[in-house]
Amino acid sequence: MAEPLRLRVAVEAPQHTGLAGPLDYTSEYPLAPGTLVRVPLGRRDVAGVVWPGASNAAADMALRDVREALTALPPLGAHWCELVNFAAGYYQRSVGELALSVLPSELRKLDDAQLANRIKKLHRALGDPGAAPGADTQVSELPSLSEQQAAALKSIDTLGAKGSATPTILLQGVTGSGKTEIYLRAAAQALAEGQQALVLVPEINLTPQLEARFAERFAGRHIVSLHSGLTPAQRLRSWLAAHLGLADLVLGTRLAVFASVPRLGLIVVDEEHDPSYKQQEGARYSARDMAVYRGKLEGATVLLGSATPSLESWQRAEQGRYARLALTQRIGGGALPALRLVDMNLLPRSQGMNASISPPLVAALQRRIDAGEQSLVFLNRRGYAPVLHCADCGWKSGCPHCSAWRVFHKLDRTLRCHHCGLSEPVPRTCPECGNLDIAPLGRGTERLEEQLAELLRGTAGKPARIARIDADSTRLKGALEAQLGAVHAGDVDVLVGTQMITKGHDFRRITLVAAVNPDTSLFSSDFRAPERLFALLMQAGGRAGRDAAQAARSELWVQTWHPRHALYTALRSHDFDAFAKSQLAEREMAGLPPYSHLAMLRAEARSAEAARGFLQAAAERGAEMAGADTVMVYPPVPTGVARVANVERMQMLVESPSRMALQRFLALWLPELHAVRRAAKAPGQRILRWAVDIDPLAI
Ligand code: ADP
Ligand code: ZN
Ligand code: ZN
Repeated sequence: MAEPLRLRVAVEAPQHTGLAGPLDYTSEYPLAPGTLVRVPLGRRDVAGVVWPGASNAAADMALRDVREALTALPPLGAHWCELVNFAAGYYQRSVGELALSVLPSELRKLDDAQLANRIKKLHRALGDPGAAPGADTQVSELPSLSEQQAAALKSIDTLGAKGSATPTILLQGVTGSGKTEIYLRAAAQALAEGQQALVLVPEINLTPQLEARFAERFAGRHIVSLHSGLTPAQRLRSWLAAHLGLADLVLGTRLAVFASVPRLGLIVVDEEHDPSYKQQEGARYSARDMAVYRGKLEGATVLLGSATPSLESWQRAEQGRYARLALTQRIGGGALPALRLVDMNLLPRSQGMNASISPPLVAALQRRIDAGEQSLVFLNRRGYAPVLHCADCGWKSGCPHCSAWRVFHKLDRTLRCHHCGLSEPVPRTCPECGNLDIAPLGRGTERLEEQLAELLRGTAGKPARIARIDADSTRLKGALEAQLGAVHAGDVDVLVGTQMITKGHDFRRITLVAAVNPDTSLFSSDFRAPERLFALLMQAGGRAGRDAAQAARSELWVQTWHPRHALYTALRSHDFDAFAKSQLAEREMAGLPPYSHLAMLRAEARSAEAARGFLQAAAERGAEMAGADTVMVYPPVPTGVARVANVERMQMLVESPSRMALQRFLALWLPELHAVRRAAKAPGQRILRWAVDIDPLAI
């Protein structure tokens, strides 16, 4: 009998097992790299992927046999394996864990026959790859491009020409400059060449809108979406359609960057600066960064679009590492909204401190209503008030399990913790002293909605029509679509909400946008807070005056206690480049990214001492390691909200001027931490878990 073949399999083993690379197995018959398999691991069977590269297990080592192979599924491509391999290495996870976490979970549940069946059905429904009859002939009339759009497309075409090493392209275009049209045309070009295109958006809420625009343009082409809102069966179907080459266009959120797309020609990352592109658990990858890597790997054009690029991307464009294409004008030549700063210091005390909405802003909103125009008012805090308070004894509505206040929700009269989810009816009296008079402190979107309804009048003697959109109002399926529909139809005078409403939506009748209380970000300890605030305000302002006829009257109102802050000065002239330059100068002086590279080690335990103890022990271990002199390890500190659901959370920053040096250090250091963790003997010193975040976004 012939010797069984030896091969490597990336298995789904959790990080704490310390199994980082592929494991060795045997198989009776050859299996191509990229084949999905089930293999024994310990006493269990786990899913795995046959990994490229020869097994280098010693010849006399007894290996276990692959249990089952899913041969109905064409193997995952070499590029896909390489992308996953890179991501696993860079984000310090096991390759199998990452591979399986980005594949649809259904693949683990189906056997070969079931999978063959699904694939057959999909072929029947979608036909052959790339063969959509008459796909490109029935396109309705295309808008003629603006001069800047035409120039940008020409450059994209030249840059993406076959044979040349395609650089990453930063498409820096002000809000309403027609970036989406560029994505559509670039995608059309890729499709015409028989390629597939991958389009990423930050928010799941934006996918239906984008899907509609692509579906309208590419009638007859197969478009699938991939995001966390799909059922497992839907997700498998979309994923298979992409993997089999049947889908021409793949639209999705961050997880779609790992879709298997065999004929990939274009990757678009819309709103590339958006923090949602960073995965917040498991392998904390940046989908934007992975898109850039993937584009290089596969020779696909990468288009990063934003009005306010991340400083990382902006700097790379400055350095010439990315090509930059600028769209400085709005379609139709409309102006960007004028900034109106309300200096809260100048208001009479009685109005300033307590009023959420200053009289000048109320008057401006009223004028828009009278003129039949819409306004958008946003505040980044949902609920009615962030805390309830007893003026007699000083009691506040803290959460018993978290170091956070419980938020007062008036509609269902609950106190809810937004961190652990604890929800209880509002007490009738103060739980400490029995005082009947407990009052809300501060304001959230519910209260803002209520106040606006009191202060504003509608037209023709009717009350003003106020709508609120936030995570609470959109909990039910279809609620968001219905609410957005009402705004688009003109059935709403003032739209109130959290930052959810500031992104992407192409509202045509909004002429005034107001930020009620953005100041908190100005003095945050997070060095990225100003960058995020600037992007948020520019993007929110971009919802106003999208109709060129109204653009000249469009305004962005900001209520602030610090009207002379440099950020607002740059905002007034819509000068992102000036803002970026000054921020980068500050970062350079402070040695912050992109001038340094960061990793955050986080630990969770029942006590802060245990979490701190683990991090300190980890730091001591690190100090003994090779390369310790190339990194700086800061003392452990509590996270922003230190205690959540009775778990204490501490974090420790690791910094290096060199990305390579940091990577090398982490690769040596992190595997040691399993032992550091086990070394804690006393139960009180044990931690629950630890994790590392490479290139963390929130500090
Ligand atoms: P951005 O994404 O840059 O904010 P959009 O792509 O949403 O801008 O474009 C703003 C509006 O202009 C959209 O309603 C879009 O349909 C329209 N538009 C874009 N390009 C053109 C064009 N060349 N001619 C006419 N309208 C256009
Ligand atoms: Zn009290
Ligand atoms: Zn809580």
